[in-house]
Amino acid sequence: MQLVFASNNINKILEIQSMLPKSIQIISLDEINCFEEIPETSNTIEGNAKIKADYITSKYGLDCFADDTGLEVEALNGEPGVYSARYAGEQCNSQDNMNKLLAALDNNPNRNAQFKTVIALNLNGEQHLFTGIAKGKITIEKSGNEGFGYDPIFQPLGFSETFAELSLEQKNQISHRGKATKKLIDFLKIK
Ligand code: IMP
Repeated sequence: MQLVFASNNINKILEIQSMLPKSIQIISLDEINCFEEIPETSNTIEGNAKIKADYITSKYGLDCFADDTGLEVEALNGEPGVYSARYAGEQCNSQDNMNKLLAALDNNPNRNAQFKTVIALNLNGEQHLFTGIAKGKITIEKSGNEGFGYDPIFQPLGFSETFAELSLEQKNQISHRGKATKKLIDFLKIK
């Protein structure tokens, strides 16, 4: 079985390919000559995962899956959520996003937060959704150099380290994306 993964992130593609049985082959967007930016116009994480998967299936007629992730902070009514990548503005980087989040929380004692990943899979004319959640807390300050995005300020439940202080293997075992990916893979294995 061949499946397009609607992502340009080579690390994510390799990570998922390495977890799949050999009978399932991941195809990148480059390989189907899709070089355009896929619009992410929904105001929900689920919505954006669906839009990306549907874009490929309707334009290229191919089975496909797409993922979308957001960090939801309880004291900020779920912000930055679907806007996690551009929380501090379109041109901003992860440092700007983390600084804005730490400033928004200030000394608020409620630091509860969760990462949520939704994977939308279009297979044989049907759509399936797989959700992975990692609960934890926003720390007072940044710590650690591993990972990316908000990792230095997210401390997963049951750990004294941030995601940025864990190895990639440790993070994958407990992370939102790791959990959603495992559900996708378990589903594909029985297909
Ligand atoms: P995407 O949908 O995977 O591109 O994720 C959207 C944004 O959420 C990213 O730009 C990051 O800021 C943030 N994010 C997603 N996954 C992670 C993670 O595992 N750790 C930290 N930040 C993440």
